[in-house]
Amino acid sequence: MTNPFENALTQLSRATSLVNFNPEFLKTLEAPNREIHVSIPIKMDDGTLRVFHGYRVEYNNARGPYKGGIRYHIDTDISEVKALAFWMALKCAVANIPMGGGKGGITLDPKLLSKFELEKLSRGYMRALSDIFGPEKDVPAPDVNTTPEMMKWMNDEYTKITGDARGAVITGKPLENGGSEGRGPATGLGGFYVFDTLRAKMGLPESCTVAIQGMGNVGGFALKFFKDAGHTVIAISDSKGGIHVPSGIDYNEVEAYKKEHGSLSGFPNSKDITQRELLALSCDVLVPAALENQITEENANEIKAKVVLELANGPITTPADDVLFSRGIHVVPDILANSGGVTVSTYEWEQNMKGEHWSEDDVNKKLKENITKEAHAIFDRSDKLKTDLRRGAFVIALERIGKAMGY
Ligand code: NAD
Repeated sequence: MTNPFENALTQLSRATSLVNFNPEFLKTLEAPNREIHVSIPIKMDDGTLRVFHGYRVEYNNARGPYKGGIRYHIDTDISEVKALAFWMALKCAVANIPMGGGKGGITLDPKLLSKFELEKLSRGYMRALSDIFGPEKDVPAPDVNTTPEMMKWMNDEYTKITGDARGAVITGKPLENGGSEGRGPATGLGGFYVFDTLRAKMGLPESCTVAIQGMGNVGGFALKFFKDAGHTVIAISDSKGGIHVPSGIDYNEVEAYKKEHGSLSGFPNSKDITQRELLALSCDVLVPAALENQITEENANEIKAKVVLELANGPITTPADDVLFSRGIHVVPDILANSGGVTVSTYEWEQNMKGEHWSEDDVNKKLKENITKEAHAIFDRSDKLKTDLRRGAFVIALERIGKAMGY
């Protein structure tokens, strides 16, 4: 499988070949400022001791405190966390928020742990890293398989250790624990705003057909926002497989079905499909919203969508990017498409720092203004450089980071 960090560095060198950047600046970006490995021993419910491996990568903080989620996944390793931290630095610069890039993770299958074990693990992760986290230093958030409740546990642990009860050390908390209105839907909503801003420029019709891979926080909300705006979501999947419903999917119905049956399989009037079949469906917009490396050299030629909106981080490998570009398929890159999450996370941090609470309307209005402006800027820059949107976004992000570093 493609090493995600190598993929990230390849993306970097391709984007920087288009514009003259100071070579010393580029050298500083080839490795994170620091990477921390921790062991987290947990007494399991059956009385045995297990030691879990956790990571935090602090990539670049030129524009503000490190910012990035914490992922619980069996395939999570340091290479993945490094790549995600690198993308976070670029994403925060693309979104033009005052944050740098970091990311964390623990290697585990969270489905195999009880809630009590997950709480001990989450608190243990924060204890192991409480000296590096802090509202002015490094501010984590949720990612794959981590939830607002886990953010609450970690925030509570941090408060116990440091006495800092502002809540600004971690974002994505439940509302009643200092979370922001609008944070849950923010990534899906921001992705939808980006799509809506660029839809006509990318030659898409007013009413589109959409296929979504992943039905977690991001994919689930994306389904809702696309449907509410009059588009037809014809397919969705989770880790067990997908369904194709040409007449269109409603979020509440599919969510209720999954809850009752444990999977999407057999949803009324649908055909079960594999992940690969979902990615290859004929549709206007394909939305990868699960994990990285889903579109590779192996299946890039099968993609029939006119636009790929990357709501997951790193779902397309670099060689696959080239195939899609040469076939005239627009790819809206992750660092723009899913930047709504970190943008509203930053609004949460700002509210906690100031002791304020903003309304959902205010949050969404600010998000829309911000992400729409950046989407236009990236489209225009890519157009000027005669390149794809990813390289256009990288160039803008790198210029901003470079400026902050004095290059
Ligand atoms: P989540 O844990 O809520 O959901 C993940 C979804 O992916 C689930 O539906 C799961 O069943 C599915 N999935 C897991 N393995 C799969 C596989 N092999 N094939 C197909 N589907 C699979 O996670 P999320 O928060 O929705 O994050 C999804 C993606 O979006 C990740 O790449 C994450 O880094 C990125 N992202 C999330 C946020 C956020 O705010 N949550 C922000 C920016 C980017």
